[in-house]
Amino acid sequence: MRICRFGNDRIGLVRGDLVHDVSDVLERLGVHRYPLPRYDLLLAALDDLLPEFEAAAALVEGIPFNGLELLAPVANPGKIVAAPVNYLKHLEEARTDSAIHHQNQVGEIDRVGLFLKATSSLVGASHGVSLRFPDRRNDHEIELVAVIGRVADRVSASRALDYVAGYSIGLDMTVRGPEERSMRKSIDTYSVLGPMLVTRDEFGDPAGVALELTVNGEPRQIANTRDLVLSIPELIERASRYYTLQPGDLIYTGTPEGVAAVLPGDTITASIERIGTIEVAVTGEVAESDA
Ligand code: MN
Repeated sequence: MRICRFGNDRIGLVRGDLVHDVSDVLERLGVHRYPLPRYDLLLAALDDLLPEFEAAAALVEGIPFNGLELLAPVANPGKIVAAPVNYLKHLEEARTDSAIHHQNQVGEIDRVGLFLKATSSLVGASHGVSLRFPDRRNDHEIELVAVIGRVADRVSASRALDYVAGYSIGLDMTVRGPEERSMRKSIDTYSVLGPMLVTRDEFGDPAGVALELTVNGEPRQIANTRDLVLSIPELIERASRYYTLQPGDLIYTGTPEGVAAVLPGDTITASIERIGTIEVAVTGEVAESDA
């Protein structure tokens, strides 16, 4: 099944070129009071809601998917986990480009482990990326994102995919410089997710999936998840060894080679096999806000 979030926080079931608005089913999530749980309410209930989404979709006309304002398909992830340098060819390019390897932050993922991005950086594809420091180098990174569906505490790689609700396309945007990754990659709008969540059963095996990113139509990243250093099950095993993964947590699985700068006015087009395509506009902030 394919689920998107669009417009004014509507939830849609995607079938072909059409979207069926099934937002009424969200009434089932009930009313929550302070303090709110640290997981995504929809992802925590997804297994129960999927049949209801199907039933609701049968009762409403579809609307065209193209042209919808697409929000991040997960509204409230408790964590955004990300893998640094998880493709060998990206490790090679990072080691040979001083603009990327600044202060030698590039290590083997097996040694340095994972990092976290602020959840406030998350936007949908239609929102676009706003470069906070346009005078510095800002790079695109296309990544397959695994969305966690069940509480995962110290799970083994052999069972890890059972804890995944589905997959989506991610952009892990990066400003280059000496700061920690968690700072450089947590700028508002620097985590893009979309265009929809494809459930695990529909998506199938996340190994051997093709990724492609172009900027203004020019190919930049063409890769395949078969070349991941740590596979998605291994990433989940590694992450959940340190912290419990909750429904809605996002695992950005790392960028392949071909990272390069984007500038205000650019359009990033990112496609992943079996999911689809996101088109993301890049803008630059002209003034600092005191708001
Ligand atoms: Mn990345």
